[in-house]
Amino acid sequence: MRYDAVVIGGGPSGSAVATALARQGRAVAIVERSEFPRSKVCGEFISAVNLALLDRLGVGDSIRALAGPEIRRVALFAGGTGIEAKMPRAPTNAFGRALGRDVLDTLLLEAAAEAGATVLQPWQAVDAVPDGDDMAVHVECKDEQRTLVAPIVVAAHGSWEPGGLPSQMKKRHQPSDFLGFKAHFRDSSLPPDLMPLLAFPGGYGGMVWSDQGRMSISCCIRRDRLAQVRAEHSGMAAGEAVFRHILAACPGVAEALRHARLDGSWLAAGPIRPGLRAAYADDIFRVGNIAGESHPIIAEGISMALQSGWLLAGELARVPDWNRAGRRQAGLRYAAAWRRQFAVRILTASALAGLASRPLTAGAMHQFVRAFPASLFLGAQLSGKISVVPGLG
Ligand SMILES: Cc1cc2nc3c(=O)[nH]c(=O)nc-3n(C[C@H](O)[C@H](O)[C@H](O)COP(=O)(O)OP(=O)(O)OC[C@H]3O[C@@H](n4cnc5c(N)ncnc54)[C@H](O)[C@@H]3O)c2cc1C
Repeated sequence: MRYDAVVIGGGPSGSAVATALARQGRAVAIVERSEFPRSKVCGEFISAVNLALLDRLGVGDSIRALAGPEIRRVALFAGGTGIEAKMPRAPTNAFGRALGRDVLDTLLLEAAAEAGATVLQPWQAVDAVPDGDDMAVHVECKDEQRTLVAPIVVAAHGSWEPGGLPSQMKKRHQPSDFLGFKAHFRDSSLPPDLMPLLAFPGGYGGMVWSDQGRMSISCCIRRDRLAQVRAEHSGMAAGEAVFRHILAACPGVAEALRHARLDGSWLAAGPIRPGLRAAYADDIFRVGNIAGESHPIIAEGISMALQSGWLLAGELARVPDWNRAGRRQAGLRYAAAWRRQFAVRILTASALAGLASRPLTAGAMHQFVRAFPASLFLGAQLSGKISVVPGLG
């Protein structure tokens, strides 16, 4: 089967690029291996600067109708009492809101289909190899196999799992790895407009009201600290043990969840792979987490996924011929645009994650933020919360 572009992965990055390319009149196939709706380890916060882009993708109204409350304040919950500051306002005066990934990802993938993309789901891409001047992507579903041929292949499969694609990362296992956890709670007393950052020994996290009366709590913890925590809570599932660890370190979390109840179960993922990577390599374009990933302490991964998909579609539209030379030209431009838009927030997030997860520096960070609560506001600004998407300002 022949297409203009094959997109591997139907998360926010894959759906964004597939929708944008389909709207340009291109024949696009998007391959997603999971059935939707599916849950995801994610805090679910979406910065307000994405609303214009979500409108262009055709889902802005649905997201406004379904998402949780506007988040107007940030806070630091570490030892002792919480410290609060204002959330920076987007140039449109809107504030960010959270929406469950079961809902968001389904809406975005449906929008890609409505724009004309062919959705192969649940199909898994297992290989991508050169095929003359094109690429051939081998996909599988149960016992069935197909080959999709296209000049453009976009890797949008995320970064947390290894696999046989040239764009997938090698498996790794180091004590300093961060593993992700997430759960929904109901009946929390967290103020609806507040998003606290949680700092605890070996990790960091966040809480925010999402949709349908659900509050999400998500976190990352170092692998070596997780092993200690699990030994201290032997017999307990990993997510529950991490939750106990957070409750012990952050009184603000215990207070907000005093009368709350778990909705579903704890999910785990990872290790996460923060860092800057090649946005175009092996003749494969990369969007979302696989192009580069920030520590989720800044809750900007969905923004980067959506925005990188949009940036790539824009650069591809500027190239008249999608032959090898055209692809290389688009790849160089896209990589430069990607770095301009995201490099600072990735570095900011790494610095913050290092500070928050080490007990010594977390204590200093807490004292500093207590003396200068406005630093929370500045940190949110640096993390890209109000960085307008080029072409959509
Ligand atoms: C603890 C935690 C909290 C977070 N909180 C937030 C937050 O509050 N706000 C925020 O903006 N970001 C947050 N993030 C980050 C955010 O979840 C990610 O950055 C975002 O999901 C990346 O989107 P993506 O499209 O690149 O990849 P993904 O969302 O991972 O989507 C990839 C898709 O590809 C599919 N796939 C994978 N391999 C294949 C294959 N071989 N063939 C076909 N399909 C395939 C997968 O099934 C998946 O649906 C958080 C992350 C963590 C770990």
